[in-house]
Amino acid sequence: MKYISTRGQAPVLNFEQVLLTGLASDGGLYVPETLPRFSHEEIAAMATLDYPQLAQKIITPFVHDCIPADDLRAMVVETYAEFRHNAVAPLVQVDSDQWILELFHGPTLAFKDFALQLLGRLLDYVLERKKQKVVILGATSGDTGSAAIEGCKHCKNVDIFILHPNNRVSDVQRRQMTTVHGDNIHNLAVEGNFDDCQAMVKASFGDQSFLPDGRQLVAVNSINWTRIMVQIVYYFYAAVALGAPARPVAFSVPTGNFGDIFAGYLARQMGLPIERLIIATNRNDVLHRVMTGNTYGRQPLEHSLSPSMDITVSSNFERLLFDLYGRDGAAIADLMQQFDHGDISLNETAMKQARSLFSSQCVSDEETCQQIASTWRGCEYLLDPHSAIGVKAALDSDVAAGIPMITMATAHPAKFPEAIKSAGLTQAVALPLHLSDLFERSERFQVLPNDLAAVQEFIAANINA
Ligand SMILES: *Cc1c(COP(=O)(O)O)cnc(C)c1O
Repeated sequence: MKYISTRGQAPVLNFEQVLLTGLASDGGLYVPETLPRFSHEEIAAMATLDYPQLAQKIITPFVHDCIPADDLRAMVVETYAEFRHNAVAPLVQVDSDQWILELFHGPTLAFKDFALQLLGRLLDYVLERKKQKVVILGATSGDTGSAAIEGCKHCKNVDIFILHPNNRVSDVQRRQMTTVHGDNIHNLAVEGNFDDCQAMVKASFGDQSFLPDGRQLVAVNSINWTRIMVQIVYYFYAAVALGAPARPVAFSVPTGNFGDIFAGYLARQMGLPIERLIIATNRNDVLHRVMTGNTYGRQPLEHSLSPSMDITVSSNFERLLFDLYGRDGAAIADLMQQFDHGDISLNETAMKQARSLFSSQCVSDEETCQQIASTWRGCEYLLDPHSAIGVKAALDSDVAAGIPMITMATAHPAKFPEAIKSAGLTQAVALPLHLSDLFERSERFQVLPNDLAAVQEFIAANINA
């Protein structure tokens, strides 16, 4: 499989190279040159596979020229054996036609474990083979950092530096990062906000000369193609369990950076009968504004009860735009250049096509709390605030009755006890057993000023692997 940039000017890469790359050199994002397509019969046959077997089936066409089948199988089996549920991604019914796909049974209790636990293994495998060492650098508002640390803590050839805004992530989220100890794990609490952290990461990827000789940076956010690829699997898993390909399904996806839902779009392109994909946002609604008013533009970041979706720009939307514009890299380069200077609108064909696949809804904090309370009253099922946004958008959608609607439950409610309290629910939300002593574990992190030079100096001085 070859990978090309959405802006058309960067080198074509193979899977191994794309795994080790962040942004393409032309500023675009890497996507597969072609997509595998599964026939009706092939999808029907998926119903007999367990999660690791299905993962191998879906991922193989994307990686087979770089990773031998037996090695991929071993990595996939090991990854999902770490999940605390035998079904890996169980489905739960919460209303007629309404289903929840629980994506929070991984080690850090959010859906990001699905991709990052495998990404860590793939990285180690490839780096060992190449005798190369790399530096992972990422910014987190909460869930990415812990999943990346957990996924990469055993990697021999990786140092991992995660920037989080000092005092601005929840206690559970911070402790999930800072209580994992290892010489190659470095938590940096920056005296700034999430945007400051992200800007430093971006600048560091742009000019890597601060690193010691021969080291390069690897991205763990959803800019990295591997994350999207691995997420395609659970769309097939859920749809087939509910009757696909004979019966079409719909998905509602709580969205920030458009990474999770873009995987759903790819599943559809690969042959899965998905009737509709619902983009569910909190009040940081850049995607809802483009779907309803055809204006894609930045607005100031607002803090919500669903912090993992607090973003101003949805990076992966560019991957969709590339398809909507007939895979014309020059057109996307143009459009993105305009976006650097202000709001953009899509052309009519692109907008029409987007609306034929996706609908959207923006859900306020108040509605989020109401949904948590109402789902609890309906079936005593406790939603986390991100998943509640998905369920609210699913219930309000106009998808026909009889089509199973599957909402992605992206996090475990114990990660966000404040939101549960705001919803007026008083029951204690216990952390799963493996994290029950989280608040007794010792923390290790470094507080650094909001200053790029200081952060880069710290990184250069603390590389161990
Ligand atoms: C990261 C995250 C999201 C948003 O995922 P995207 O791929 O950025 O759309 C939603 N919910 C939770 C709990 C997350 O951690």
